[in-house]
Amino acid sequence: MVPGERVDLAVAGGGVIGLACAWRARSDGLRVRLLERGAPGGGATHAAAGILAPDTESEPGAAAFAALGRRSLELWPEFAAELERETGHDVGFARSGTLVVALDRDEADVVAREAEQWERLGLSATRLGGSECRRLEPGLSTACVGGVHVPHEAQVDPRRVAAALVAALGDDVRSGVEVVEATAGAVTLADGSRIEAERVLLATGAWSGAPVRPVKGQVVRLRGEPPCERMIRSEHVYVVPRPSGEVVVGATAEERGFDTTVTAGAVHELLREAYRALPEIAELEFVEAIASLRPGTPDNGPLLGERADGVLVATGHYRNGILLAPATAEAIVSLLAGGALPEAAEPFAAGRFA
Ligand SMILES: Cc1cc2nc3c(=O)[nH]c(=O)nc-3n(C[C@H](O)[C@H](O)[C@H](O)COP(=O)(O)OP(=O)(O)OC[C@H]3O[C@@H](n4cnc5c(N)ncnc54)[C@H](O)[C@@H]3O)c2cc1C
Repeated sequence: MVPGERVDLAVAGGGVIGLACAWRARSDGLRVRLLERGAPGGGATHAAAGILAPDTESEPGAAAFAALGRRSLELWPEFAAELERETGHDVGFARSGTLVVALDRDEADVVAREAEQWERLGLSATRLGGSECRRLEPGLSTACVGGVHVPHEAQVDPRRVAAALVAALGDDVRSGVEVVEATAGAVTLADGSRIEAERVLLATGAWSGAPVRPVKGQVVRLRGEPPCERMIRSEHVYVVPRPSGEVVVGATAEERGFDTTVTAGAVHELLREAYRALPEIAELEFVEAIASLRPGTPDNGPLLGERADGVLVATGHYRNGILLAPATAEAIVSLLAGGALPEAAEPFAAGRFA
């Protein structure tokens, strides 16, 4: 890209959200430039477990989130298949389902309340006793007293998704380039050069500025014979088994500003809780523990659409940016084509905290 050249869309931020929006816009025939200050996919996307869980991630009163999440989960199979056709990259989409488990009576009360909430949101989940859970997942601890099986939830490998999107975008991605100013018609880079653009999209994750705040998440990766087939979630931890033998154990949610220190206490707690649910965890190889920053908002829903100054934003996806990437891209390309936000995205309009 020669500074001064004009493009249809300049995207600041190369996480899953910026990459997905840029790819969909390019597929619609727009000339796109994505500007990433580090390595694309190196932010929260690099840490994410890749759970696609619109129902078991929804919180009380979160009907709007569940609707957007379900729309995105509906889009994921074709999004993954198209990416694979275009790039040859397998992004690891698998409908492995979620089994939410209770490991004592107190946790059983919590799971029962959650199940009621999900049923109110129209989810058809199956409540199970402890032995039924263990029939599904023999690796579960004998302490398991019950659970809820949600078979339609799925997973992808976020690192593979980012790599595939980068491959699909080719030269349209520029790494090591920081955007220092974004206006409706141009971005200014740290070296002082400008890129003129018909539309500018800010997708800078936890670094998007107010009202977005960083929420630290620590996560552990293990490798070996997965101790379960389904994604297992307890009150304190989730375990995501991948066909590759990677097992992800997550995650903390900490309000600590931009700190990304990995702490002994967090790693200890994640592994202890994973072991409580699935004792075979202890046999796996330890691969890594990392921390990254989720983009949170005052209501922890995403910010989608146009700001008052005409700049487009797609940020604030908090714990669900991987899940919400296809629906976010769908919303942004609709706006780029002169349309409105899709109905499921309307409650998340960018101006709602202005
Ligand atoms: C531990 C953990 C586990 C998670 N698990 C899941 C999960 O299982 N499922 C799920 O759906 N979500 C999960 N998430 C959330 C998900 O990772 C995020 O919601 C998602 O990655 C947000 O994507 P993003 O593109 O907005 O941000 P990021 O991936 O953080 O990307 C933002 C990018 O913008 C770049 N940038 C910032 N400022 C500038 C600038 N000025 N100029 C140029 N570039 C800039 C950054 O370098 C970064 O690469 C998890 C998050 C964490 C931390």
